[in-house]
Amino acid sequence: MNEAVKSVVIVGGGTAGWLTAGIIAAEHQANSNQGIELTLIESPDIHPIGVGEGTWPTMRNTLQTIGISEIDFLRCCDASFKQGSQFIGWVNGQENDNYYHPFVAPQGFGQANITGYWQQHCNQIPFAHAVSVQPHLCDHGCAPKQKQTPEFAAVANYGYHLNAAKFAALLQRHCTEHLGVNHIVDHVEKVNGAIDSNIDSVITRNHGEIYGSLFIDCSGSNAILLSKHYQIPFINKKDILFNDSAIAVQVPYDNPEADIASHTLSTAQSAGWIWDIGLPTRRGVGYTYALSLIHI
Ligand SMILES: Cc1cc2nc3c(=O)[nH]c(=O)nc-3n(C[C@H](O)[C@H](O)[C@H](O)COP(=O)(O)OP(=O)(O)OC[C@H]3O[C@@H](n4cnc5c(N)ncnc54)[C@H](O)[C@@H]3O)c2cc1C
Repeated sequence: MNEAVKSVVIVGGGTAGWLTAGIIAAEHQANSNQGIELTLIESPDIHPIGVGEGTWPTMRNTLQTIGISEIDFLRCCDASFKQGSQFIGWVNGQENDNYYHPFVAPQGFGQANITGYWQQHCNQIPFAHAVSVQPHLCDHGCAPKQKQTPEFAAVANYGYHLNAAKFAALLQRHCTEHLGVNHIVDHVEKVNGAIDSNIDSVITRNHGEIYGSLFIDCSGSNAILLSKHYQIPFINKKDILFNDSAIAVQVPYDNPEADIASHTLSTAQSAGWIWDIGLPTRRGVGYTYALSLIHI
């Protein structure tokens, strides 16, 4: 990091804010006198979205960098393994219409493209089933690793399903207690600095002016630094992204002893699609849809 950057201020305490804080604090020793000073400001008025419950495999590396043990993470966040997604009913809506997007790359990926062989010899089998072992693990309810596999190591590549609120709480605890992040709960009301230059400071309602040499905007759709201060316009993609609404609910298992799916179930609907994510304690289910296609 540039010598001039001695203090970093992050605006926003959702998953983006706390993950950013964790990575910067760990990589630039915010908990030592020689390291940078790192402050995260979070508004008491605006709650984080808190609905993201599925991660990519890169989260393993992120957690390792931040210094959170995998066992602590799994226990604190009611987390389970995610080996990919299964898309149900997306092709023709018939009984066996489903295919996987697994996290293990196709056999020989990077050395040979076996798509042609699949098309020629076995296109009756879904592509992922033909070229990757992972859909078979998911179908048989197998985990991506064994009990004795070390933390973060994989036999089959995996990410996680997790309780987003518990994850944010764990990140906050770890960042403030172990990584030296200053946490300020306050609303940023004004940004100081010329629009064609760096930000000098932000003004909060109760803690006054907070200075920094680098400011990072993690304020979600409020985009207080990027949009309100630098006036970078929001680019609307409504013309190509039809789904504009979502509802999310948490439901108990019918049978608490039932296996937990280690992949996200994504089922096509007439107005969008439904996700179904299995945590050890409950399922997280949601419907993402195009409002214009709902007829009541
Ligand atoms: C239906 C749905 C499903 C999703 N599923 C997934 C998923 O499975 N996996 C995944 O990775 N992602 C998923 N996402 C996306 C994910 O939820 C979001 O990208 C993520 O939660 C956004 O986090 P954030 O920290 O950027 O913003 P937010 O959670 O919106 O947090 C914004 C923060 O900024 C603060 N703030 C705002 N204004 C100010 C101010 N003036 N002063 C001080 N603080 C301020 C707020 O207090 C808050 O702490 C999903 C999103 C939706 C809508």
